[in-house]
Amino acid sequence: MIPRGQIDIGWTDLVRATLLAVDPRSASRAAARLEHFWDPDGRAVATLSVRSGLDLVLRVLDLPPGSRVLVSAITIRDMVTILEEHDLEPVPVDLDMDRLEVDGDALRGLVTPGTRALLVAHLFGSRMPMEPLVEFAREHDLLLLEDCAQAYDGNGYRGHPEADVSMFSFGPIKTNTALGGGLLRFRDPRAARRVRALQSTLPVQTRPAYLARVAKYAAIRGLLARAAFTLFAAACRALGRSHDRVLADAVRGFGRSSLLPAIRRRPSYPLLALLHRRLTGFRPARITARVRLANRILGVDPGISRPGRRARRHSHWVVPILVPDPDRVCRALWSAGIDATRGASSLFALPPRGTDGPHLPVRAHAAMRRTVYLPFHPGIGRRDLDRLRAALAKAAREPSASGANPDGGKRAASDPSLPGTQPRPAGIP
Ligand SMILES: *Cc1c(COP(=O)(O)O)cnc(C)c1O
Repeated sequence: MIPRGQIDIGWTDLVRATLLAVDPRSASRAAARLEHFWDPDGRAVATLSVRSGLDLVLRVLDLPPGSRVLVSAITIRDMVTILEEHDLEPVPVDLDMDRLEVDGDALRGLVTPGTRALLVAHLFGSRMPMEPLVEFAREHDLLLLEDCAQAYDGNGYRGHPEADVSMFSFGPIKTNTALGGGLLRFRDPRAARRVRALQSTLPVQTRPAYLARVAKYAAIRGLLARAAFTLFAAACRALGRSHDRVLADAVRGFGRSSLLPAIRRRPSYPLLALLHRRLTGFRPARITARVRLANRILGVDPGISRPGRRARRHSHWVVPILVPDPDRVCRALWSAGIDATRGASSLFALPPRGTDGPHLPVRAHAAMRRTVYLPFHPGIGRRDLDRLRAALAKAAREPSASGANPDGGKRAASDPSLPGTQPRPAGIP
């Protein structure tokens, strides 16, 4: 079976992480060094994760309860949960799915005097132009929060200079992961200092906790090697379980009630030291190779429909495609020995709010309902591409399964609700 993806860290760094976990040095100096590397002007803060960082930012901001936050309509669930935990009201803003840019008309239609912030996420490895958003935020006196968790490409982008906060993630499924870690850069160095001061009151992630992560993701990394994955998928089949579900359960995040306590930690020394090493050692040529491979995968079928087709910049973190009947396509690919999944990135479309009239996030919902992530990792070779081409062509010829979206996805255009039809997050790219 061709596995869906791979954790983006080598065995050498996993061993190094283990050694760092028993190194007694302190987290504070490692944090200062990493922050100076990310931004020599003192505007960076290293956090346990992007979610931890967002929580800190919101605690420092202390916006009035009920403030509206415009949110680009597709992001990970936890980001929305964190806004809600701070008594803020997330308002989804629809996306142009071809360009993966926030829809300007929706933005203008949804902003109110009670709106205080705009949170936008660059998706799938693309990066939307920030200038129009900077201008919009300035015009309406909004804080601009830029989520770059999926957009790291090693080419020196640290966020738009006019965004109030730009957040990068090095969590387990992200590019150049350190099995955790977030880097936030602030426009205003005073804001960075306040967030740093608040963070210093949090307990430090323990070394055993970090070691347990290293062990867990080393195991998953081993499982995602082709031979092991083939056995794993076969074993799941023999036991009558879905391997997709088993993997989803293995990497599931925290439940809503335990989210804040779990993310309110400072990063440990081994995490910070490993992240510093990962960042200084990163070769951007890896991204060039990744883009080339993505283009080869997408090239197997010229008729392929996909989000981000016309994105201005794209480093292809994952390779999503749009199909009318994603469950059927996944099953067809699985039976051809190709792993594909609906849940790779943990993304979801924000629930629509009845009050948003003509500005419901219709396109975001329609796209998420049709998204399948193709397998994507450096181990994919020419023969795999041939297999993928054949399997996609076969899946396209087969008639749609009964009951599965009988109107071919058109319903989505008028009904963006039905959050229950969205895929469950499954963590692995
Ligand atoms: C991964 C991700 C996050 C969360 O990053 P963590 O560092 O794991 O908290 C936030 N937003 C998006 C869009 C992501 O993909």
